[in-house]
Amino acid sequence: MKKKLFSILLVLAMCLSLTTVAFADVSYGTYTGTAMGRNGEVVVETSFLNGEIVSVTIVSQSETAGVADPALETLPIEIVENQSIGLDAVTGATFTSTAILEAVASCIKQAGGDLEEWSKKIVKEAGEDIELTADVVVIGAGGAGMSAAAVAGASGASVILIDKAAAVGGNTILCGGSYNAADPEVQKNEPISEAQRKELASYLEMDEADFGDFGPTLAILKEQVAEYLDSGADYLFDSIELHMIQSYTGSKRTGLDGTVIVPDFELISSLCHNALDGWHWLQSIGVPTREDLTTAVGALWKRTHQVEVPPTGAKPLTDALRDYVLSQGVEIMLNTKAKEFIVEDGVVTGVLAEKNDGTKVILHSNHGVVLATGGYAGNVQMCVEYNNYWPDLTTSARTDNSSNAQGDGIKMAEAIGANTIGLGFVQMLPTCTALDGQAGKGVGSKIYVNKEGLRYISENSERDVLSKAALAQTDGVFYGVGDAEMIATQGETKINESEAMGYIFIGDTLEEVAEKAGVDAEALIETVKKYNEYVDAQEDPEFGRYAFSNKIETAPFVIAPMSPALHHTMGGVQINTDTQVIDTNGNPIPGLYAAGEVCGGIHAGNRLGGNAVADAIVHGRVAGANALAFER
Ligand SMILES: Cc1cc2nc3c(=O)[nH]c(=O)nc-3n(C[C@H](O)[C@H](O)[C@H](O)COP(=O)(O)OP(=O)(O)OC[C@H]3O[C@@H](n4cnc5c(N)ncnc54)[C@H](O)[C@@H]3O)c2cc1C
Repeated sequence: MKKKLFSILLVLAMCLSLTTVAFADVSYGTYTGTAMGRNGEVVVETSFLNGEIVSVTIVSQSETAGVADPALETLPIEIVENQSIGLDAVTGATFTSTAILEAVASCIKQAGGDLEEWSKKIVKEAGEDIELTADVVVIGAGGAGMSAAAVAGASGASVILIDKAAAVGGNTILCGGSYNAADPEVQKNEPISEAQRKELASYLEMDEADFGDFGPTLAILKEQVAEYLDSGADYLFDSIELHMIQSYTGSKRTGLDGTVIVPDFELISSLCHNALDGWHWLQSIGVPTREDLTTAVGALWKRTHQVEVPPTGAKPLTDALRDYVLSQGVEIMLNTKAKEFIVEDGVVTGVLAEKNDGTKVILHSNHGVVLATGGYAGNVQMCVEYNNYWPDLTTSARTDNSSNAQGDGIKMAEAIGANTIGLGFVQMLPTCTALDGQAGKGVGSKIYVNKEGLRYISENSERDVLSKAALAQTDGVFYGVGDAEMIATQGETKINESEAMGYIFIGDTLEEVAEKAGVDAEALIETVKKYNEYVDAQEDPEFGRYAFSNKIETAPFVIAPMSPALHHTMGGVQINTDTQVIDTNGNPIPGLYAAGEVCGGIHAGNRLGGNAVADAIVHGRVAGANALAFER
């Protein structure tokens, strides 16, 4: 269902000065223009009177809440004010901005206007330099940056938090709100399956010698597992050590050039030991959360806590973080892009930034600076340039990232001698839509099949394993298959939107839905029959799946065509567990701290689903506290 927003800008139009340039070529009237935004059609009405645009009204749109708002709110006003569509896209809302400008262009054309005249470039004028000092300066208002600012602000410090986008959130606002933390108290309410027991028992066979720094952790885990299995307990086992070992096995990878990359033991230990505390902190500052646990795609174990998020995006998470940050007196400066660090006698003492109108911003910190600018999976060129993992990655790859994820912070830090780790390791999320590469548009699946209607992998596998297998299927596309159970959890709005956009197909029988999706129906029926038998037996002799959904048996059935897209960058600046940025000589750069996706080393070659938000919150908080504690 489309949202109706931002009507009537007529009053504004009446305030237009008489000196406004108008092009008398347009005919009086109201015209409707439509263009594709990020999530679907953006429909705009434009009214012309006496050769001027007097109003621009967004009639309907289904853009991502929070991300698109600045464009939806400001562009209609700016078009009327400037009598031009020659405006820059709102930073962070490029798709929506382009759609609005295109839709208005269509209206101008319908009204008989000369598009060239109406597209004159509007150049904003820079204001006077802004120079400010705060105890702590934080760059990037995503999950990590807002957590850092929140902690420093809560200690009574003055904090300035800048972001180049027109709204806070970064990739964090787009995320599924999945957060991994071993939580044995809650997991005691979860049953364990026979297949999960077998998976646990397999750790007893592993050799500490193969686990490097993680060897002693494996030894502790083995003791825990042996004791648990002996007890005959019927609840789901978990521990910090299991989370650590799975983070190790799930992310140890070999690059195309033969380099083996493993996660940093200290950082994984810090993440896994502090993740639950970070989760409770989020709850304490008002982030809405669910009580049940899930298993995020590629999370490997049922320890994923969930922020209560609408079908797309984690606005409730970033809204709560932003509100808390503001309540602690933090000053947020949006549309402010960090360009370089101010370094005095080898100490980072501030940041040089620029407003989107070109105004220079000079920020000094009394204590430390926190770098939290996120990753670079929105910069496909950079992913391809550094790629050391995907054999056939090209610039035609799609991304589900915010356009703000360009790797700015990594380049800024490198310019002052920061070391980087693992830049060649980029994660592709298997479950993006085949249509446009977006995440979170499906409805969840019980099995994955190919066009031929056959399963081809254990759906429990890590993300890179799933992505590689998916790319090897016909057309590089696979199909998630679910039933009424999935549909029920998503709500009518999302189902209708997803079906209308062609992200999913729904049918009363498997045959019907398979035909709609272009999957071999006969083979699919046979595949589902076999899978349902595996659910009964809790054993998958074909692909070794160890965690099962319920059977696929209740109509209506749903199929989502999916294909991997660039999703997360594991590489970035090197930090230690105090979140100090490390230089190429192995020493901390005084005054500079970093957290979140801008950092490398923690997720090595493949991040577990649900580990990134936990990392951003856990290490963002550490960075905020340590940047404030830093004394020159
Ligand atoms: C669609 C999607 C779904 C995901 N779902 C999950 C999930 O459910 N669970 C999970 O664990 N992980 C998930 N991830 C990954 C996770 O969301 C990110 O790794 C994490 O949110 C990154 O947080 P961050 O604070 O480091 O960066 P971000 O949230 O990206 O924030 C960085 C901020 O820095 C700003 N910035 C960048 N450059 C500059 C500059 N030069 N000057 C000023 N500001 C700048 C950006 O505008 C941005 O606001 C998902 C990712 C995507 C794309």
